[in-house]
Amino acid sequence: MTPLERWYVEHGRHDLAWRHTRDRWSVLVAEVMLAQTQVARVASAWPEFLARFPTVEAAAAASVGDLIVAWGRLGYPRRARRLWEAADFVVAHGWPDDLTLLPGVGRYTAGAIRAEVDDEPDAIGIDVNIRRVCERTEGASLRDREAESVALRLARPLYGRDRLLALMDLGALVCTARAPQCDRCPLRRRCATRGERDGEVRSRQPRYEGSFRQRRGRVLDLLRRAERVEIGDVDIEVVQSLVDDGLAEIREGLVTLPGRGPSSAGSSRAGRGLTR
Ligand code: SF4
Repeated sequence: MTPLERWYVEHGRHDLAWRHTRDRWSVLVAEVMLAQTQVARVASAWPEFLARFPTVEAAAAASVGDLIVAWGRLGYPRRARRLWEAADFVVAHGWPDDLTLLPGVGRYTAGAIRAEVDDEPDAIGIDVNIRRVCERTEGASLRDREAESVALRLARPLYGRDRLLALMDLGALVCTARAPQCDRCPLRRRCATRGERDGEVRSRQPRYEGSFRQRRGRVLDLLRRAERVEIGDVDIEVVQSLVDDGLAEIREGLVTLPGRGPSSAGSSRAGRGLTR
């Protein structure tokens, strides 16, 4: 066993609920949530969302607005709309061989699903944690494809699912952004930097308080809770941006979530067309 394999067996986050399924839809939902939300919040949101929409068929049969309601306060609700679009695509065409054909699924998510669900030997996805491990061990900034080949090499003989999750967990628990714990890292002998030279550009979250994002969050909250919201009663600039993003509709002077308006109730596809 290599040091990384041993570390993963002993310290990997094997208890995360979405690691106990190989269901493609369930893993897709988890990965989309995890892309911009912390693990602890996803841990409570993921089972609730799947209880409401356990299959692609259930999600596609609902309205976009229903998914946005179920998304709750996870943030970045465009993800809920993209999930609905992905479910709609799969119901119509089946799962594509190239998962990046699905709305909202990029190179990382496609690679992660191929690794986690299918355990494909060559599958890898480069998320922020894996990128950090690869760049620190190499001592250089890497493009996606460069990072992918470093990841394949670093984790040998691990492959597929175990390789992805071992590197992801190492980045999340040991090779952390602010304080890498190099003395307990299974890759320290192979690491060019050992935390001394950090080539990464640390991303700083923009302030939420007072931001446009906060204003959008408030209006979306209102739309989730209220039966009727008159257009004159809400922040029109925010409503316009939500309509542009396909997260709200204006019908007959009312603002609603997609597919939940007065003339679109019950239609799962009503969210696509906007009537202003
Ligand atoms: S030795 Fe330190 S910097 Fe290098 S991969 Fe391990 S934790 Fe990260």
